[in-house]
This record gives sequence, structure tokens and C-alpha cells, in this order.
Amino acid sequence: MPLLPWCCKMKVHLSPEEGNKLYSSVDNMVKTLFGAAASVLSTAPVHGGDINDAYRVSLSTGDYIFLKTNSAANVNFFLTEAAGLQALRSSGKIGVPRILGAGTDAQKGISFLALEFIEGVPRIASYWETFGHQLAELHRAEFLSYENRFGFHQDNYIGASPQKNQPCEKWIDFYRECRLLPQLAMAERYLDPSFMKKADHILEHLDSYLREPDFPSLLHGDLWSGNMLCGPDGKAWIIDPAAYVGDFEADLAMTQLFGSLPERFYDAYSEVNPVDWKGYRERKGLYDLYHLLNHLNLFGRGYLRSVVEIIERYTGAAD
Ligand code: ADP
Repeated sequence: MPLLPWCCKMKVHLSPEEGNKLYSSVDNMVKTLFGAAASVLSTAPVHGGDINDAYRVSLSTGDYIFLKTNSAANVNFFLTEAAGLQALRSSGKIGVPRILGAGTDAQKGISFLALEFIEGVPRIASYWETFGHQLAELHRAEFLSYENRFGFHQDNYIGASPQKNQPCEKWIDFYRECRLLPQLAMAERYLDPSFMKKADHILEHLDSYLREPDFPSLLHGDLWSGNMLCGPDGKAWIIDPAAYVGDFEADLAMTQLFGSLPERFYDAYSEVNPVDWKGYRERKGLYDLYHLLNHLNLFGRGYLRSVVEIIERYTGAAD
């Protein structure tokens, strides 16, 4: 596929300093980055992730790195995560760990992604306010406004599910084709035909429920509270993205899906990027629907009730 102009302008490709190199083992990466004498001293598991094994790796040089591993076949998880992290980092608006490298270790049968280790600290008083300002700045970042296209230069993943990012001129078309439709197709086994009919009604009339945003925003894409750390600088560091260009309301909705962030975060956010809160609340359910369908598809029936409730809410008046 030819590179689209907006991809180049967004500078989303990994630059040489930013871990675009693929390594054949963790040891090989450590020696290349930290010197021939460097080696791994110990690895301690880090908990909190959904999918991968994660470690705090201590090196003979006194450095620490963050390492995620999965089976060798899943290296694409890490390459697409690195591309998302790099896109977010290139905005310069918010803390995103530096990418050290990724690769596949054929001998150990693993793939890996190594990042700068962010030493988590307790949140300080200004954390939520600063985070609100920074996320809003990311969403308003000027380099995104060259071309009005939604999507990303490659498909990636939302959790363990594939996430389509085929660029689209219109947000609502993108959201229908690349977000709701693929998840609904996967969820067909859980939804009876009458609900599928109602879901189809939503897809067909999506432009009466959603709006075209005034500008496209680079989104984290999976911004639940587990994907935000407080770094040693007392500021937010965002991790584990499912990045793409979309309507910023989709990121805001994810921050409220499994429990909301403190009010001062939203107040600070809207100081930098004003939000039509009334309209947002009307649209939010359809942004929740994508993630709830994904949870239904990944984790099963426990999420069915929430999915059905949203479909009912938006089609109450429809046949
Ligand atoms: P998964 O891909 O399995 O969901 P995450 O990327 O969420 O894994 O990482 C698992 C946990 O590791 C997170 O909950 C967080 O606490 C920690 N973590 C993630 N990235 C870093 C990092 N760069 N530095 C330090 N800790 C991190």
C-alpha cells in the first residue's frame, strides 16, 4: 500500500533513535544499546497487564528496562504497539516511554518489546490537572491537521483483538467500518437476530447519532486507568496504546467506561480543548459500545448485558 501523505506528516514511523531496530534476542539488544559488556542481571515480574508477560529487567550497567514478552508468533502485537507509542511520543505533548527495541528470539520462542522503565510514584496533587491539560494538547496537536483523515498507517490491536485502521475521510464512516462493524460481526454468536437488526439500524443511521469532529486527533485508543502511570516527574505517562486518529470524544469515553477519572481531570481537559458535554454524553454510549463488544468477544457473556443495554438505548424508538 502506498504511503499516504498524512502518515508522512505525522512522523509515525520509528526513527533510528526510537527503536526501529529489530533484535534477534534480548541479550543482543542489551549489548547493542548499553555496550558489549552489558548483560541482564535479573528480571522481576511486573503485574497489571492483560495479555503479555512483563518484567523489570536489571542490567549489569545499573540501568533498568521494561520488557514485555509473548510467543514468537505474536511479534506483530509489539511492532504495532511500538508504532502507536512512537506516534504518541512524536507529539511531544505527554509522557510516553521511549522505545528501546523489539524483536523475536527464535531460540527462546518469544517476541519482545523493550521500553524505558517508568518508576511509578504516588500521584501528587497536580497530577490530574496536568494530565487533563496534556491529553487535551495531544488531541489538539497541530501536526494532525494537515489532512482530514481518520485511521492509522497500519492496523493494530485492541487488547488481543485485531483493530482495523483503514484511513477514511469521514470519522463516522471510519467508526462504522473499522470499529463497530468488525466487532459486531464477531459478536453475532452472542446476539439474537432481533438485536442484530437493531445493531444494523444503529450502523445505518450512525450519522444521526455521532458528529464529525472539527479536527482529527491522535488518540491513545485504550485509555482506561490501567494504562496511565504517574512517573517520577509527577506527571502522567501513558502506556499500552491502540493508537489511531479519530474523534477525541472516543478517548474521553474510554476514561469513563470502567469508572471515571476525578472531576478535576475533565475540568482541566476542557480548559484546553472545550468539550460539548451534553452532546458528548449523548454520543458516549456508542463509543463505549466498541470496547464492550470487544470485551464480549474476548471475555464472554459477562459483557452481554451492557452491550444489549446500549443497543436498546439507541434504538428505543426503532423497530
Ligand atoms: P499488557 O500489554 O499485557 O496489557 P501493559 O503494557 O499494560 O501490559 O504493562 C503491564 C504493566 O506493566 C502495567 O500495568 C504497568 O503497571 C507496567 N508498565 C507498563 N509499561 C511500563 C513502563 N514503561 N515502565 C514501568 N512499568 C510499566
